[in-house]
Amino acid sequence: MLAENIFLKIINKEIPARIVHEDEHCLAFQDIHPQAPVHILIIPRKEIRTHADITEADRAMLGHLHLVAARVAQEQGLTAGYRLVVNCGQGGGQAVPHLHVHLLGGRAMSWPPG
Ligand code: AMP
Repeated sequence: MLAENIFLKIINKEIPARIVHEDEHCLAFQDIHPQAPVHILIIPRKEIRTHADITEADRAMLGHLHLVAARVAQEQGLTAGYRLVVNCGQGGGQAVPHLHVHLLGGRAMSWPPG
């Protein structure tokens, strides 16, 4: 079982977050346990549990998440590059059951990921 959807509380402003971008489709905010000097989560306002739950109806929104990720990366000064990660389901290491894109940067990234 994935944990409760804490990100809905951030969307609804029921709990605080360090928001760096907000628009009608998505929010971007600082991860509470950063794994890199820059670690930002980009999430849709729409409730989607996992990457496996996306549908054709989400096509434009998903593209928008990537455009926002690129813009935030630029704003954060990640000129040397960055990594985007989407964990899907328990096997993929997803803890929060609301689709989110991790934007990680500010240090060298290794491969393969853990
Ligand atoms: P994932 O394992 O892909 O589901 O990632 C969930 C991420 O959400 C983790 O990196 C957590 O540190 C982060 N996180 C959990 N709760 C909060 C919160 N209240 N504010 C910001 N980030 C959070």
